[in-house]
Amino acid sequence: MKKIFQLLCLLIILAGLNACSSDKDQDNNGDSSQFSYTLYTGASANELLSDTRFTKIVIEAVYVDGFRPEQASLNNLLFFLNNRLHKPGGISIVEREIPAQSLGTYSIAEVRQLEDDIRTQFSLDDTLTIFVLFADQSSENDSGNSVILGTAYRNTSLVMFQKTIEELSGGFNEPSRVNVETAVYEHEFAHIMGLVNIGTPLQSDHEDQSNSAHCDVDGCLMSAQLETFNPLDMMNIMGSGIAQLDAQCIADLQANGGK
Ligand SMILES: [Zn+2]
Ligand SMILES: [Zn+2]
Repeated sequence: MKKIFQLLCLLIILAGLNACSSDKDQDNNGDSSQFSYTLYTGASANELLSDTRFTKIVIEAVYVDGFRPEQASLNNLLFFLNNRLHKPGGISIVEREIPAQSLGTYSIAEVRQLEDDIRTQFSLDDTLTIFVLFADQSSENDSGNSVILGTAYRNTSLVMFQKTIEELSGGFNEPSRVNVETAVYEHEFAHIMGLVNIGTPLQSDHEDQSNSAHCDVDGCLMSAQLETFNPLDMMNIMGSGIAQLDAQCIADLQANGGK
């Protein structure tokens, strides 16, 4: 059986950029010294990458109805973040579980609302906080063979469609669940780190012309190939490991305060 699936986070991000630039999601009412968590994806890239404003990161990981990632995937994510972000005070994960939401498939509007209702960690003093929802249902934007595994939808907010990830990994001729989780989590975190060209300026010409916010280097963690492959291609890319950022993506991050 041939399952072709895509991460269409790019489309979601572009929708988010359009929506957020002018609508109510842009929170400008509060105290200007407060750090807003409702900015567009990539808007806080420098604050993530550098230690200029924040020296620590706390990731609030909310698992819906037991949809918790493998521990190895979380360890891989922390290793990846420590390699790229200047956070001398450390990066930690605060875990929490919430009941099933009975919303059916999730729209990004519903994910935003859920975050507004349940997020408890907010950036303050030397600590930047990131909210990650591990969803118990798929995205409502899935269609046919095209499914979404994760979306970076605000400056410090991500949703992972954990149920979909679990269904599409670990089987015969499919990559391992840990490899898929790791690639998806790292890919989405790299979007809030401003890749590609969404908050972290290009240092060289490597943005994919037909898939903006992605990299045109084959096999790069941020390549669009990672979003449009079938399980066999996925095995070729990740069967023996997890996709890495290429040198040009890393150079962009380094020029914007990262490692
Ligand atoms: Zn993407
Ligand atoms: Zn790249």
